[in-house]
Amino acid sequence: MDKRSFENRICDIRFCRPCALSALAQWKGWPIRDAVPRLPMIHNGKCPVCHGTEELISTSIEWHNVHGQYNTGLPDYWVLQVNNRKSFEKTFPSKWGLPYYEIRKCERCGETILTSIFNPPIGWELRQQCMNCNFIAVSEGR
Ligand SMILES: [Zn+2]
Ligand SMILES: [Zn+2]
Repeated sequence: MDKRSFENRICDIRFCRPCALSALAQWKGWPIRDAVPRLPMIHNGKCPVCHGTEELISTSIEWHNVHGQYNTGLPDYWVLQVNNRKSFEKTFPSKWGLPYYEIRKCERCGETILTSIFNPPIGWELRQQCMNCNFIAVSEGR
């Protein structure tokens, strides 16, 4: 994986902090296989759902693996956690990639496609999912 070329594509996505924190806390699953929660984006300075103004930037959200007490192999599951990053930085917050990586316009419906990138020890995996229609694309490489 050419980490630099992936880093160049990282998008500065500004979510509503309270709405995002409650949705992120409920997620439990596996990167790429399970879609990350849809989070409201700040639009014209406000959250369209709760009308709050506090932002959570996309590069402060990372996957974190959870192992049971006696489990030394693959993680039991993953959660989404928020780090202390205060400003947007074009870098991966952890070695595992970025659950909220890139946004672009859906060619089918015109709404927003959200991309997640997962960096396991070998290769990379991308999941693109439209937040409105049923478009999903998963790809991988090394
Ligand atoms: Zn909100
Ligand atoms: Zn769509």
